[in-house]
Amino acid sequence: MPLADERHEVIRMSRRMVADGLVVGTAGNVSLRRGGLVAVTPSGVEYDRLTFADVPIVDLDGNPVHGSLKPTSELPMHLAAYNRHETGAVVHTHSLYATALSLVRDEVPAVHYQLAEFGGGVRVAEYATFGTARLAENMSAALTGRGACILRNHGTVAVADTLVHAYNRVRQLEWLCQLWLTARQAGEPVLLDEAELARSAEQYATYGQTGTEH
Ligand SMILES: [Zn+2]
Repeated sequence: MPLADERHEVIRMSRRMVADGLVVGTAGNVSLRRGGLVAVTPSGVEYDRLTFADVPIVDLDGNPVHGSLKPTSELPMHLAAYNRHETGAVVHTHSLYATALSLVRDEVPAVHYQLAEFGGGVRVAEYATFGTARLAENMSAALTGRGACILRNHGTVAVADTLVHAYNRVRQLEWLCQLWLTARQAGEPVLLDEAELARSAEQYATYGQTGTEH
């Protein structure tokens, strides 16, 4: 069976997304690449019922290679991330605070130095209908040079070399958005400036592994 480890990892992370409250039901999806093949969550199967053989394998053009089920309808977004951003893993959630922020902002405000771990300000991609090539285009534009972006009125996308790192990024992004939205209820948040974010990025480059230990 091809990509055994990757398929297990896709199931594990899909279930974790639900357990951590980043999606509800079968919303959201994850994928993991090895070479020219991608293991990706299937369309419309509850993640706790997902078995090893259910996880579809596709090539980088989206052609089915293995597995009985159809890949997620957001496959064009995953393929755009691999083909244009040379990443190893993709996580897509519908998490509440990040999606809420996308309704009122074009970028995640610089509320915390952890934003530097994303390679700069996290952008909000222009809205497009789910599952379309247009959404993949908009996501790709917003993702340029960054580890994540938010899809307006939809959810989040994070990329990284491993699925664990991409997953940590969507969780961290959700926390940053919750921080800003919480502070906004009390007053006008004070933000970090570009120079401080650049210094933080240097610190990450020097000392950080995935940013989770800071
Ligand atoms: Zn979605």
